[in-house]
Amino acid sequence: MTTIPATYESSRERFRASLASFSNPSTRSGRRHWPDSVLTSIPLADESDLTIDIISAPATRDKQKLLILTTGLHGIEGYVGSGILQLFIQEYLSKFDSETTGIILVHPINPYGMKDRIRTNKNSVDLNRNFVEDFEELKSINPHYESLAYLLNPARPLQSPFHEKLTFLWNVLRALPKGAQHIREAALMGQYRIHNGMYFGGFEIQEETKFMMDLFSQSISEYAKVVILDIHTGYGPRWQMTLLNPPAEKMTAKETASRFKVPLVAGVNPEEFYSIHGDMTDYVHRMLGAKYPDKDFYVGTFEFGTYGDSLWQGIHSLRTTALEHCLRWFGGSDSSRAWMKRECDELFMPSDPTWWEKAKADARAAFDGIFNAYGIIY
Ligand SMILES: [Zn+2]
Repeated sequence: MTTIPATYESSRERFRASLASFSNPSTRSGRRHWPDSVLTSIPLADESDLTIDIISAPATRDKQKLLILTTGLHGIEGYVGSGILQLFIQEYLSKFDSETTGIILVHPINPYGMKDRIRTNKNSVDLNRNFVEDFEELKSINPHYESLAYLLNPARPLQSPFHEKLTFLWNVLRALPKGAQHIREAALMGQYRIHNGMYFGGFEIQEETKFMMDLFSQSISEYAKVVILDIHTGYGPRWQMTLLNPPAEKMTAKETASRFKVPLVAGVNPEEFYSIHGDMTDYVHRMLGAKYPDKDFYVGTFEFGTYGDSLWQGIHSLRTTALEHCLRWFGGSDSSRAWMKRECDELFMPSDPTWWEKAKADARAAFDGIFNAYGIIY
């Protein structure tokens, strides 16, 4: 059964146990068997009970194709990511040729955030804004962030849910004359100045980021074809997964949709999604393009929408994100704490079983399309 796990620990246990799906000779044989596959657990520097776990299964004869699936870059999104990894192992592994195809699975990139059920790491850094070379240069981006602090970054303890809902709505109305797009950009672009603000990209490279940069550069070089997919939740329409192309991708959304036969593709740019900096898929796309121009590669993000993408649902999502930060930094009442937990869980791992069934169907459609286009399943 591919389920969304209840805890970080149970998810980790399940992931570690799935190494047997690659390496056990009694269930795997011939071209379905990766005898050299290994599980590596990297503890975080100050939290040795939290680990980034990696299953690495190198091709056994001729290293032609490599698939990398990564989860939990935004901690709490790792629960759905974990379910998608299990779906991959149960339904797709037997379609891969171990002689020519290597597989790397990462669960989760951000174990602190997954365990704590938040998006950021321990330092309150959004790791998908942290794949950055020059942090000084980025200090000046998103100049309007501070002017919207009353909306995005309220510096006070949370009161009752009723009070907070009214206050937030009032603040949205105050900000709205500047335009919905203005608020959206300021909220989502990321910022590199306020360490306890939303979508904070950090003052320096985080250990999880460094680890992923090294993993990418060490694992890719020998393979001619590389597909990297990073699993996320929380944005886009509720009932259709969005495949996101990084800004560096040359294919348009339309070309990508027709190549992979998936219904919804967006590019990470202000017209189709929103502009961000320090994105992991963009980093690895640029690195591959610069270092290995001859490789045939695709790097993309699966975004499973949750609340939905209407204006109202966008405001709801902004409210959850802003108030979760507020609660974390300034505390709040018991009722606001329970409310925020429900709101965050629904934003990143909806409880409706129908949602999960549709998410799995969308993941299968995208896996089929991408793997077929790259000739990595048969
Ligand atoms: Zn995410």
